[in-house]
Amino acid sequence: MQFVDLKKQQERIRADIEGRISAVLDHGKYIMGPEVGELERLLADFCGVEQAVGCASGTDALLMALMALEVGPGDAVYTSPFTFISTAEVISLLGATPVFVDIDPRTFNIDPNLLADSIENGPPDGLKAKAVITVDLFGLPADFDPIRQTANEFGLYIIEDAAQSFGAEYKGRKACALGDITCTSFFPAKPLGCYGDGGMCFTDDEKLDAAMRSIRVHGKGREKYDNVRIGINGRLDTVQAAILLSKFSIFPEEIQLRNEAAHRYALLLEGGDFTLPFTPEHSTSVWAQYSILAQSQGHRTEVMAKLKEGGIPSAIYYPKPLHMQTAYANLGHDPEDFPVSKDCSERIFSLPMHPYLTEEDQQAVADALLAG
Ligand SMILES: *Cc1c(COP(=O)(O)O)cnc(C)c1O
Repeated sequence: MQFVDLKKQQERIRADIEGRISAVLDHGKYIMGPEVGELERLLADFCGVEQAVGCASGTDALLMALMALEVGPGDAVYTSPFTFISTAEVISLLGATPVFVDIDPRTFNIDPNLLADSIENGPPDGLKAKAVITVDLFGLPADFDPIRQTANEFGLYIIEDAAQSFGAEYKGRKACALGDITCTSFFPAKPLGCYGDGGMCFTDDEKLDAAMRSIRVHGKGREKYDNVRIGINGRLDTVQAAILLSKFSIFPEEIQLRNEAAHRYALLLEGGDFTLPFTPEHSTSVWAQYSILAQSQGHRTEVMAKLKEGGIPSAIYYPKPLHMQTAYANLGHDPEDFPVSKDCSERIFSLPMHPYLTEEDQQAVADALLAG
C-alpha cells in the first residue's frame, strides 16, 4: 500500500503528460513558456482570484508574498507553530520575527480567539505587527472570517499558506481566495502536485501582483536588466506547468475521490480509540493528509508499529512544533507555551490518503487500527 499513490494517477494521464512535455521540447521555451501563463489563468479562474503568479516552490511563493508586502527586520508576523517549517522560515529569512499562536485542537489550524488575544496584547518588545500567515493544515481552510476581522481591526495583511489546501472551500469561497496573498505548493505529494518543485501566489491586488512578478525575476523593472528591487530566481519551469495542466484536467474529480476516501475512513474508524478529523459545516477539505489523534504518545507508537507490521505506511505531521525546533531556540520558548500544538504533535499521525485508495486498503488500515 502506498501512502500517496502517484503511479495510479500517472497511469490515467501518462499519454497526455507525454504529449504536453513533447510540446515543450518542440517549442523550446523552457523558461516562462506559454504553459506558465496558461496555467496561471486557469488556476486563477478556478480559485476565483484575479491574478496567479507561478513560482519555483511553495516556499518561494511564501517568500515572494512577504517580500511584496515589504516584510523585514522589526516586523512581527503571526502564525501557527503547528505547520511545516517553510511557513515560519520565510519570515526569519527576511529578518522579521515569527510570533506563534496556538491552534484549535479540532481543526489543527490557528485559533482565531488566541490570535485576537495575542494581537491585542501587542507584539514582543520593539516589534511592529505586520501580517498574519494562516495555514490551511491537512487541506482544511483556517477559520478565515474572524481572522480577517482581527487583521482589519489592526491593519495587518493576511497571507494564506494554502500549500495543502488548493481546491478546498470556506463558506463558498475557494482556498487561495482568502488571503491578501495566498500561496500554494505543487510539490509532488500535495493535492495538486507536479513532478518536481513548483508553487503559485494568488492575489486580487494589482500592485501586489506586479511586485511578485518582478520579485520572481530578480526584481526586474520594465526590462530584464533593469532591476528596481531585490528579488529572487523564483520562476515556475515550463515543463512543470505543462505537467500541471495535464494533472489539473482530472483534479476536480480527484477532490471528489479524496472526499469519498475520507468519508469511508470516518465510517470505518468510528467508535475506535482515535479522534477523527473534524470538518466544520461551512468548509470542505482536500485531504492533503488524513490525520487522526491517538490517546497518548505511547498509544501512537503502538498503533503505528501495528500498521507497519501489516505493510501499511503511516507518517507523523508534525512530530515537533516550530516553537520547539532548535532553529527557533532563539525565540526562547518553553514547550508548554503552545500546549495544544505540543499535545497534538505527541498524538497525531496520518494514514494513507490519495484519490486511488481502494475500499480494501482502507478496510485493512481500519482492521490494523482497531485490532485489540
Ligand atoms: C509543503 C508546504 C510548504 C512548502 O512548499 P514547498 O513547495 O515544498 O516549498 C509550505 N507550507 C506548508 C504548510 C506545506 O505543507
